[in-house]
Amino acid sequence: MTAKAVTQKAIDLGLLIVTPEEADIVIASPGIPPKSFPSVTCEIISEIEFAYRYLISEQRPPSIIGITGTNGKSTVTAMIAHILDCPMAGNIGIPLIQYVATPDTKTSRPEQIVVELSSYQLETCNTLRPHVAVVLGLTPDHIDRHPTMESYAAAKQRLIATQTPDDVVIYDATNTWSRHIAEQSRAQKQPISETSTLYHDIIALTQTQTCLGLIGKHNHLNALSAGLVARAYGVSDAHILEKLSSYQALPHRIEWVGTLNGCRVFNDSKATNPESTDVALAAFEAPMHVILGGKDKGLNLEEFARRVAEKAASITVFGEIADRLVSVLRTVKHPLPPLAQTVTLAEALTQALSVSKPDDVILFSPACSSFDQFQSFEHRGDVFRDMVQERMNDVS
Ligand code: ADP
Repeated sequence: MTAKAVTQKAIDLGLLIVTPEEADIVIASPGIPPKSFPSVTCEIISEIEFAYRYLISEQRPPSIIGITGTNGKSTVTAMIAHILDCPMAGNIGIPLIQYVATPDTKTSRPEQIVVELSSYQLETCNTLRPHVAVVLGLTPDHIDRHPTMESYAAAKQRLIATQTPDDVVIYDATNTWSRHIAEQSRAQKQPISETSTLYHDIIALTQTQTCLGLIGKHNHLNALSAGLVARAYGVSDAHILEKLSSYQALPHRIEWVGTLNGCRVFNDSKATNPESTDVALAAFEAPMHVILGGKDKGLNLEEFARRVAEKAASITVFGEIADRLVSVLRTVKHPLPPLAQTVTLAEALTQALSVSKPDDVILFSPACSSFDQFQSFEHRGDVFRDMVQERMNDVS
């Protein structure tokens, strides 16, 4: 999608598209590391950097909000777009280039654009200067491309490298890497801290009102990060809270799907590793019937199995990993809740419903990737959502 958008915009801007060897500038897709072009001597940049250079040269350039970190980027990006009522772009799936004006652009220009940035995209950014940068926590990830935490953090650090004292950096003060990155910035520093009055107001909001987009402590902190960004643009706390109360979770991230047999059903298909499922397990107090499973990545599952056994009211495992995960679960010391094994996701849902009671939660948070039976986590989540909705229609 991005490659197509870049090509089209380059043509609209009157640029000539040539081979990398003949080019003055190469715009590389985030999936292709710069070292894949050994014969290229010109500058290699990401679509983000390319788009930024055009945006910044416009008459009234939009203010750029850049979001990075290991987990929570898309959620914080979507929350900011919701609060500020501004467009979002970048790693969330919308090319930034589409906001670059061409001679025939007639639409009004956004005041701010919130851009989700992966380490791959940041690696080849060198002039990008976000007015507000958010550095969420960094944990080991993408070790294929970034062999050490230092090199991973160095890519993320590019987000703040060009900031000035007029800018703002919002960072996870509890994460060593995020703190270290913020310390390198010349911008005004705002820690994402549970002592903030806004954090307490967010908690109070979720206690007085059903806020379906704000389930779990991780989302309270995501909301705080988004709120701090809005504050940097002078938005009042009252307005931030009002907007947050109507924020809907992104699809597949603890997404409320509906009610079946009196149970609230959630689709958390984006949880493709045990750590993401842990976050979802911590988000509910009601008895949880957890559906796990998918492709076996060969991870050590013992500690995870213990945590699930401790938290779940029942466990149903499906897919390629089922045999192994069920045998690991059977060896954990904690008393085991009802445990079942199925082949398909549909059978797993039927099983979880059969042991549930009204007011319980059915949580599909697979902890595995989807490629054993589905094309992607989105496909898997869509199938799950459709399945739940079909059964809701059958009941009504
Ligand atoms: P990203 O775009 O960085 O992948 P998402 O917003 O899509 O982030 O969330 C991905 C997963 O990361 C979620 O399913 C959730 O389990 C976890 N997550 C979200 N926010 C946080 C957070 N603030 N801290 C830790 N984990 C989080």
